[in-house]
Amino acid sequence: MNILLTGGLGFIGSHTATVLAAEGHEVVIIDNLCNSQRQTLDSLESITGKELPFYEGDVRDAPLLKEILQKHHIECVIHFAGLKSVAESGTDPLKYFDNNVGGSIVLIEAMQATNVKKLIFSSSATVYGEPQYLPYDEDHPLAPMNVYGRTKLQVEEILQDLSKSDLDWSIVCLRYFNPIGAHESGLIGELPQGIPNNLMPYICQVVSGKLPHLNVFGDDYDTKDGTGERDYIHVMDLADGHAAALEFVDKHKGWEAVNLGTGIAYSVYDLVSAFEKSSNQTIPKVVKERRIGDLPIYYAKADKALVMLGWKAKRDLQSMCDSSWKYQEQLLKLAK
Ligand code: NAD
Ligand code: UDP
Repeated sequence: MNILLTGGLGFIGSHTATVLAAEGHEVVIIDNLCNSQRQTLDSLESITGKELPFYEGDVRDAPLLKEILQKHHIECVIHFAGLKSVAESGTDPLKYFDNNVGGSIVLIEAMQATNVKKLIFSSSATVYGEPQYLPYDEDHPLAPMNVYGRTKLQVEEILQDLSKSDLDWSIVCLRYFNPIGAHESGLIGELPQGIPNNLMPYICQVVSGKLPHLNVFGDDYDTKDGTGERDYIHVMDLADGHAAALEFVDKHKGWEAVNLGTGIAYSVYDLVSAFEKSSNQTIPKVVKERRIGDLPIYYAKADKALVMLGWKAKRDLQSMCDSSWKYQEQLLKLAK
């Protein structure tokens, strides 16, 4: 198929591009580079052995989107482009509603105008909010606890209403849990700008000597070792999940939301131990106060993805840490 990836040079989009290109799909990318780098395109081309059409542009640019959709005979769009900092979404909510919700509306309108009606949307487990029960299944009440999560839920709702108004649409909203890890080549991975907010990129910077120690945000939760537990998922498993969703939207109409997680929760200390093993280094850590807004534990019920998409995560925590470390080593070599 001819597929447009919005935000395709970002962390999840770039890994998904490698899987789709390997499956023989024609991949076209639009990205405004607000949280990614152009060199990722070179890495993608060396991994895939293909030239991938790339547009440096914004999803809020309707004429550009229509031009790309028509010129490349796009059949399906995977909409990764979005801003993802929970903290920034609270301090600058309009920026988040404009980019994430406004950007999605412009994209959907452009797709409608050009009769492209297959869409996979990057949603998030944050749409669930405070767990009423665990694991979260797709029927769990939706009550996001932050602006970022609300932008994701709003887009999901817009897409659901759209699919009811026009039965030609095929839409899958993928609710990602905690993607980490990197491509097995070590050529692409997660490249956060500034000081990272999330656990894995923070650990990577500690191990690379850029930050002195890991701050552990609370060790007194009611969890197995007192630290927060999350459902970490290898980004290449997540990429495979998109390939499975693509087959699904090609054959089914309507709207669906599907969790992409492993169904297993690991603690901060589990991740630290696994990363210490990968890197053969000790990670210095300091226990700090709990981070405001953090949930003690959440993880996915991953059954719907298996039944509906025939997809299941295959890679374990050690493989997530090994691949992240391989990417870090590559970055360290380049910096020398
Ligand atoms: P990322 O920041 O690495 O990638 C997003 C890409 O979109 C970046 O390359 C950025 O430059 C681009 N972009 C942002 N706004 C744009 C715009 N208006 N026009 C064009 N390009 C734009 O993030 P990611 O981790 O790859 O996440 C991809 C998607 O998945 C996001 O929508 C994010 O909210 C969602 N998501 C991510 C996670 C996670 O933990 N990484 C979890 C759940 C959901
Ligand atoms: N965490 C931590 N130190 C950090 C970053 C995160 O102890 O520097 C903890 C955080 O409190 C949570 C877990 O690691 O329990 C995962 O946090 P992350 O921000 O990666 O994911 P999210 O909380 O958004 O699911």
